[in-house]
Amino acid sequence: MANLIVGVTGGIGSGKSAVMQAFEWLGIVAEDADVMARVVVEPGKPALKAIVEHFGPDVLAPDGSLNRPALRQVIFSDANAKLWLENLLHPLINQELEKRLAAAQSPYALLVSPLLFETGQNRLVDRVLVVDVPEALQLERASKRDGVDVGQIQRIMASQMDRQERLARANEVLDNSGDLASMQQQVERLHREYLSMSSAAR
Ligand code: ADP
Repeated sequence: MANLIVGVTGGIGSGKSAVMQAFEWLGIVAEDADVMARVVVEPGKPALKAIVEHFGPDVLAPDGSLNRPALRQVIFSDANAKLWLENLLHPLINQELEKRLAAAQSPYALLVSPLLFETGQNRLVDRVLVVDVPEALQLERASKRDGVDVGQIQRIMASQMDRQERLARANEVLDNSGDLASMQQQVERLHREYLSMSSAAR
């Protein structure tokens, strides 16, 4: 069982998914908060029923799954609705993450989340690794990945924690401004550090 949980965070396009995959290749269990945000609203789950009761059947797709663009539209223009939804979902997402991390079969485990601090998920982790790139590179990589204009990425960045504030809360920082080989090397170094921390904690 994992006796060290590392939270991995960073802005959109910083490289969290790439870093997560590199740790997974080393045999480390990683849970992704974005994936869990989808799991808790799957058809049949109580959260989906609560959402439909609150917002009406227009937030459902014809197949009975959540119509995410429709829901996004509703909360975009209504701060109270957004708050209601976050109050419903964040505790459910956190519970599910906590359960899965507790069952993780690797010496340490990762919780990867773009909103680690904003959602209180930082309370589930022992340490925080920030994946960091300069904002210009973040914009370039994220807009290229998603095939959207930089304005759209800038709007998402504006809703996320500011770079300096995130860095100030880091225990470790992975500088992802280099190439993938440089990222890989840093992951391997961090892996050795986390392995030794986890055996010291045993
Ligand atoms: P996040 O999960 O933080 O939003 P991703 O891991 O998806 O970010 O990375 C954003 C984009 O940048 C992806 O297309 C990814 O392949 C690419 N990328 C990540 N790290 C590097 C790197 N060190 N060098 C070049 N491209 C990278």
